[in-house]
Amino acid sequence: MIDAQKLRQDFPILHQLVNDEPLIYLDNAATTQKPEAVLAKLAAYYHQDNANVHRGVHTLAERATQSYEGAREKVRAFINAKETAEILFTRGTTTSLNWIARSFGDKFVKAGDEIVISYMEHHSNIIPWQQLAQQKNAKLVYIDITPEGYLDLADAKRKIGPKTKIVAIAHVSNVLGGINPVEELITLAHENDAVMVIDGAQAAPHMKVDVQQLNVDFYAFSGHKMCGPTGIGVLYGKRKWLDQMEPVEFGGEMIDFVNLYDSTWKELPWKFEAGTPNIAGGIGLGAAVDYLSAIGMDEIHDYEQSLVDYVMPKLKAIEGVTVYGPQDPKDHTGVIAFNIDGLHPHDVATALDMEGVAVRAGHHCAQPLLKYMNVPATARASFYFYNTKKDADRLIDAIHKTKEFFQ
Ligand code: PLP
Repeated sequence: MIDAQKLRQDFPILHQLVNDEPLIYLDNAATTQKPEAVLAKLAAYYHQDNANVHRGVHTLAERATQSYEGAREKVRAFINAKETAEILFTRGTTTSLNWIARSFGDKFVKAGDEIVISYMEHHSNIIPWQQLAQQKNAKLVYIDITPEGYLDLADAKRKIGPKTKIVAIAHVSNVLGGINPVEELITLAHENDAVMVIDGAQAAPHMKVDVQQLNVDFYAFSGHKMCGPTGIGVLYGKRKWLDQMEPVEFGGEMIDFVNLYDSTWKELPWKFEAGTPNIAGGIGLGAAVDYLSAIGMDEIHDYEQSLVDYVMPKLKAIEGVTVYGPQDPKDHTGVIAFNIDGLHPHDVATALDMEGVAVRAGHHCAQPLLKYMNVPATARASFYFYNTKKDADRLIDAIHKTKEFFQ
């Protein structure tokens, strides 16, 4: 079992007072904190190796290239992709999803085709498909959510059919916190000759993901939600699709030969990566992958589950508190959206901050979901492996104080 108290020593930012109280950071679904190992790697890169990648023959350029491409290999191993050619570095989940919509969508989606998503998607997994549907005269179809807060698999079976070209679903919802039945969805998509896209922003940082075992076509995630830097993310794509897809951006780094009126592209993965990449970001992500892998993704998942088992009943026992998403702790990840009767979630988040407890409030970039649930906004506490039961207790205490304060 994880020793969170020990791991916390790796995160300098966690050891500070906020409003005279020890910081309890529970906004990990928005972004996670960075361990010393990642910070040191970033500093070392800029102190010792900074150079542009791929083009230089001098020593620094070679060192930078080796570290950057080495990070790609670390990411490949992390999600068990077949080859590094299938690992594209992007700015984050949002960019990854946009690239699929623009490149795969442009090539393969036709008028009358259907793109199936769900009501629980993050805006990043809605708007690129809306745009594509509008451009192609295709139809965007939404899978329902059950009253218990699960993705409705029976409805998915009704909605994924012969017209479906793409199914794009979050592995874990950033509001409801449930793990979606992606294996079944992938099978359904493939039975209908559709491709499956998984938005893994809230899953890859928290559990073992094996893209070959899943047999998923595309998998997107962000470095900053898994102890890495901001501005770097990953798009995994099966080679058979990436080979057929055109780049989304054009310029330096991605070309083979440039003629006056036409040009040819480099091989995968570089044909998608125009311009000087986020070199430090890639190297930092590689360090984050090393850090998480040393702890163990199954261990992280089990530990977070134990925190949820501990905090969910306590949260639900507070009079006037509503917890959204699956009510059984075993079906809930560390993302816990809640409301307190009569209080606006922004006031709740502000009051919790006075106690040093950082949570998020608002629509969490999931406006269609909140509309579907008929809830204008929620507060959201989201846990990571460096949170402890003590943090959970501080959250519960702070909620009691908040209720008393506003009474
Ligand atoms: N998808 C989900 C489920 C998310 O939670 C987020 C971020 O909150 C995103 C996509 C977008 O991630 P990014 O802003 O890192 O691109």
